[in-house]
Amino acid sequence: MSAFLSKRFDSLTPYVPGEQPQDKKYIKLNTNESPFPPPPQAIGAIENAVERLALYPDPEQKALTQKTAELCGVSFENVLMTNGSDETLDFAFTAFCDTDTPALFADITYGFYKVYAEWKHVPYAEIPLCEDFTLSVDDYIGKKGVVFIANPNAPTGLLLPVSEIERLLHADTSRLVVVDEAYIDFGGETVVPLIKKYGNLLVIRTFSKSRSMAGARLGFAVGCKALIDDLKKIKYSSNPFNVNALTAAAGIASLENDSYNMVNCRTICENREYTIRELRESGFYVTDSKTNFVFAVHPNVSGKYIYEKLKENGILVRRFNTPRIEDYVRITVGTKEQMEILISEIRKITEAQNA
Ligand code: PMP
Repeated sequence: MSAFLSKRFDSLTPYVPGEQPQDKKYIKLNTNESPFPPPPQAIGAIENAVERLALYPDPEQKALTQKTAELCGVSFENVLMTNGSDETLDFAFTAFCDTDTPALFADITYGFYKVYAEWKHVPYAEIPLCEDFTLSVDDYIGKKGVVFIANPNAPTGLLLPVSEIERLLHADTSRLVVVDEAYIDFGGETVVPLIKKYGNLLVIRTFSKSRSMAGARLGFAVGCKALIDDLKKIKYSSNPFNVNALTAAAGIASLENDSYNMVNCRTICENREYTIRELRESGFYVTDSKTNFVFAVHPNVSGKYIYEKLKENGILVRRFNTPRIEDYVRITVGTKEQMEILISEIRKITEAQNA
């Protein structure tokens, strides 16, 4: 730390992204990326867009926003495109939370919520999930503040039904609920249609997972016009050209060929069910994930040991040094071949420990 860093950030603990190793080639199942490339048309669109790199991108991203609105069945004015969905979260914390309006989120959820709250000096409460990691909406009703819910949740993989989120929205329409649907395309039902009924709902989505574009950084927010206008106020005060021209071109082509993406999602769901079945057969407790990852714990072998042994054998998974889940591993669902190798390595580890 230099002598110049503002005292405001003395106690800030930054988010720790999953490893992106550059040295050795791993089977990389640690950051919930897609094992499949984006549609070939998206790659072609980037090649074509390179010609216009000397120019700033469209700050409104009209074509991309329109296509995204069509995907969601909403109007242009209901959508804001961002640099990954992390930027939507950044804008939402800036726009809607302050010292009088705390942030409320689960004790086990996407780690960035806490980091944004701390960075922006927003008071926050981490509300414990139930014993089985399900989220009880009742724990939020009657508490003051903006609610951030990842649905399905990460890293637990569990999905809340739309009816429960609607119950929360309905319980207090003067309180904002932000639903982070980063993983919704892997078996969940989106709450996006509810934005027409609830002005207190903001939905966050990403192209990183189901559309294989984590490296391009593209996310979006969906909500009523007033909420989107609030986010635009923050965007135009911080980063008007937040979505770059190459990413925008790829995003449009991706949506024009979305059936390709959705076929990949179905394959990932099949591979997930295979992985869950095999892990359960090997003695693991595995949550009922509706995402592109599985969350598993073994009764006799620690999460740390499994993580380290897999890494030694060329497979990267994710583990969190966080209370309640230190013995769990979060494993991204890759191709069938990758999952077969994973299962065979995991069997060797657990069988050696059980022997
Ligand atoms: N929300 C959740 C729940 C996530 O797991 C992630 C990815 N780590 C994000 C948001 C951010 O994704 P991105 O910025 O790549 O859109």
